[in-house]
Amino acid sequence: MSDNTNKPTSQQEMPSAAQTTVPAVSHEDIRNFIPSDGCLDGKTILVTGAGDGIGRIAALTYARYGATVLLLGRTSSKLEYVYDEIESFGGKQPAMLPMNLEGATYAEMQKLENLIAKEVGQLDGILHNAGMLGALTPLEMYDVDMFAQVMKVNFTSTFMLTQALLPLLKDAPNGSIVFTSSSVGTHPRAFWGAYALSKQAVEGMSDIFTQETQNTTNLRFNCINPGGTRTNMRAHAFPGENPMSLKTPEDIIGGYVFFMSDESIGVRGQVVELQPKD
Ligand code: NAP
Repeated sequence: MSDNTNKPTSQQEMPSAAQTTVPAVSHEDIRNFIPSDGCLDGKTILVTGAGDGIGRIAALTYARYGATVLLLGRTSSKLEYVYDEIESFGGKQPAMLPMNLEGATYAEMQKLENLIAKEVGQLDGILHNAGMLGALTPLEMYDVDMFAQVMKVNFTSTFMLTQALLPLLKDAPNGSIVFTSSSVGTHPRAFWGAYALSKQAVEGMSDIFTQETQNTTNLRFNCINPGGTRTNMRAHAFPGENPMSLKTPEDIIGGYVFFMSDESIGVRGQVVELQPKD
């Protein structure tokens, strides 16, 4: 991926030069994507942080469009609630995968890969959505334990889980891996500490995975930056903000469906801002 893919210039509105086989889909098209009924039929998609916020809405939406959704999260009661919501509208039976990414080991993730292979038999996509904010404080004062915790949840576990699940994703006809970034990851900002650095690392990881796989596999790796969205995390980061001034996860979810649907086959190494600033 060329360097300019990460920068929100007008050039970025079209796929970068490195992706010569990328279909002509602009970031604006992705933001405005309207999924068609059944566009995720037959796909199995794992969503991390599926119990709340954007992850919950992504899981419900993937199920509405026909996917079997694997719900990974740390709070079982929240996963059960999402499970029941999917059942209530007649979605394909989901699976719950309780896992706290902070303490999860690589061996546990490999076990998960075995479990999915045995019980489900396929994996077409992962939405790496789980995340934590950590402290908003100068790096000089950043608690080093919290720094490690944020990096583990937002970045290292994302790498570990991707690597552990790659055998299944490579077996899929067109595996899609979606990471979640943030504006402070694309442009690191003072006082955003480990959160900003973890998101910058996620963008770098997506770029490297893209370079390493684009000539030899059908896998596609991309990053979504949802932009300011009405969730608990946003409320913690901006306590004085009126939440009603923000888009909801439902408002922006089309882009999340795009990257799991066959419409995004061949789209690689992109960082798509779903709510670009003027
Ligand atoms: P949220 O409402 O706080 O949801 C975060 C989700 O991650 C929750 O389901 C949470 O589980 C899960 N999670 C946190 N720590 C975890 C752990 N150790 N193990 C497993 N799951 C864990 O946040 P959100 O706003 O929906 O954020 C979703 C993603 O979008 C994040 O990656 C965030 O950085 C990114 N993002 C959000 C915004 C925004 O404005 N909302 C902007 C830019 C980027 P529990 O509910 O069980 O705690």
